[in-house]
Amino acid sequence: MKLLISSNNQDKIKEICSIFQLPGVELITLESIPNAPEIIEDGNTLYENAFKKASMLYEFTGLPTISDDTGLEVDALNGRPGVYSARFAGENASYDDNVIKMINEMQSVPEKDRTARFRTVAVFYHPDLVIHEEGVIEGSILSEKRGTGGFGYDPVFYVPAKKKTLAEMNHDEKNAISHRGQAFTRLYTSLIKQLPNLTDIN
Ligand code: IMP
Repeated sequence: MKLLISSNNQDKIKEICSIFQLPGVELITLESIPNAPEIIEDGNTLYENAFKKASMLYEFTGLPTISDDTGLEVDALNGRPGVYSARFAGENASYDDNVIKMINEMQSVPEKDRTARFRTVAVFYHPDLVIHEEGVIEGSILSEKRGTGGFGYDPVFYVPAKKKTLAEMNHDEKNAISHRGQAFTRLYTSLIKQLPNLTDIN
């Protein structure tokens, strides 16, 4: 069976591919889908965006599709940027633009109030079976970047349980505890259980 990952983010794809190794399943990416539609992430929730990314690509390709949407919820910012994390510093913001804006907005926030979490909703879409699972990792926002691994907000997201930022962890360490690691591990487990019921699949 072919399973499409509906994302253009190579950093995410790398993480998803190493988590989602189902026997008999070939993971394919949008690089092998010419003229794939661009998905506008205009949902009000992570689930809405993840569902849209997966279902629209299924409609275009006929392939069962997985996707995710992730948000960083910062308590001192009343849960922002949340579903708007990609556009925190503006429409075409780079990873660095967003991190710098985060550092600046959090400048006067004391250590004890810098708590935050990453939340990922992962979706599997086939018209006969839709599954979604969530993963959350708790941490806090640092006042400067630490580490060179990962991507996005990883250099300022400190995980107290590991005494490291996500960017100071290697790939496997991050996947073992991260929001995305949890969400896709759960999705994988649910899919394994339900896949035998899906007969009409590529
Ligand atoms: P989206 O899920 O692609 O919409 O991601 C929203 C925003 O969160 C983007 O700016 C990503 O760079 C950032 N992001 C997503 N996943 C991670 C992660 O695992 N670590 C750090 N930042 C992330």
